[in-house]
Amino acid sequence: MELVENVVCPFCGTLCDDIICKVENNEIVGTINACRIGHSKFVHTEGAMRWKKPMIRQGDEFVETTYDDAIEKAAQVLANAKRPLMYGWSCTDCEAQGVGVDLAEKTGAVIDNTASVCHGPSVLALQDVGYPICTFGEAKNRADVVVYWGCNPMHAHPRHLSRNVFSRGFFRERGRADRTLIVVDPRKSDSSKLADIHLQLDFDKDYELLDAIRAVVHGKDILYDEVAGISREEIYEVAEALKNAQFGILFFGMGITHSRGKHRNIDTAICLVQELNEFSKWNLIPMRGHYNVTGFNQVCTWESGYPYCVDFSTGEPRYNPGETGSNDLLQNKETDAMMVIASDPGAHFPQRSLERMAEIPVIAIEPHRTPTTEMADIIIPPAIVGMEAEGSAYRMEGVPIRMRKVVESDLLSDKEILEKLRARVVELKAAQAK
Ligand code: SF4
Repeated sequence: MELVENVVCPFCGTLCDDIICKVENNEIVGTINACRIGHSKFVHTEGAMRWKKPMIRQGDEFVETTYDDAIEKAAQVLANAKRPLMYGWSCTDCEAQGVGVDLAEKTGAVIDNTASVCHGPSVLALQDVGYPICTFGEAKNRADVVVYWGCNPMHAHPRHLSRNVFSRGFFRERGRADRTLIVVDPRKSDSSKLADIHLQLDFDKDYELLDAIRAVVHGKDILYDEVAGISREEIYEVAEALKNAQFGILFFGMGITHSRGKHRNIDTAICLVQELNEFSKWNLIPMRGHYNVTGFNQVCTWESGYPYCVDFSTGEPRYNPGETGSNDLLQNKETDAMMVIASDPGAHFPQRSLERMAEIPVIAIEPHRTPTTEMADIIIPPAIVGMEAEGSAYRMEGVPIRMRKVVESDLLSDKEILEKLRARVVELKAAQAK
């Protein structure tokens, strides 16, 4: 058995880079350091849930085909569509994402990623009011007050707490004992059980609570007995803890980006963090889900000027979330073909969006059997980045990390598939222009 060290886990945005893979006969059979979710991804690359050959739908059946044939048919769909949508991009590398943005431009498509249904409001908010952010390293070495707001890392990012709260840091030699942990969540969760203070606020009242804390931080009194289900005394206590931190960090998740107020919640959370910097050093980091959702927003911004929901149909990049988002286009029937890559909208989009997906041609570039591939007309399976192909990804706070290849694969990488697709779409478009 071979041990491959310094492997990066291609599952969640924590992007743990200390994984050791046990490899036997070119197959990953075990891991060291990965959490249960990460371990599961590493050891389930084979089996019935994996697509190993390109497939074309014929009636209710999928028929095996070649890469060349599947790419030709996919190129025909994209070149003949009036307004194709290219969605996903969060479980692949930055190199593939770069080719994807170029393909979208050459096709006159709308390109969007999973941020449009998760941390899109965070992206809008940081464009409004800025982004006081730091790295995991700073949090680990310096943070003495850690807040998790609207997230449950024990389940969604299982090693996040061990890396940022329990770990010993340069100025936090006793690890957890040197930190105050505050969890803000309307539910009791496995993360809130670990907290020193659990603010169990009312559902959909994040904005009100943030505003009340901001008021107290500024020396104002609260006139009511409670705000958002939290007593006045608790709000005073928390505001005092935040002000007295030597170094504070606010991690926030979809419990706040998708409760009432959406990006206005994040606006006010960012303002709170900015105001706390009058008293101490504070930063915030979004709890990004897919391992390279952050990477797509970086790549798309440096290529087009915008982070997601980018519409190239006029020849220029245009950005208007609410109009150019994937669900807006699907539900308004404004797209006539869809390419899904590295994500599973079939499992997560609302029914009206899925109804539109069932009406139009769908291309899925996806290694596994998913609800999306069940709806697809063309399935093109790639090698999995971080295991069967190397590539770059951005950790949730924006640190780029190089991902290793652990085993060999006969499959093309996402980047190679997209390059072939782009070359053929360009030929077809040139022929159409004559
Ligand atoms: S916390 Fe996330 S990145 Fe780290 S091992 Fe678990 S799934 Fe992988």
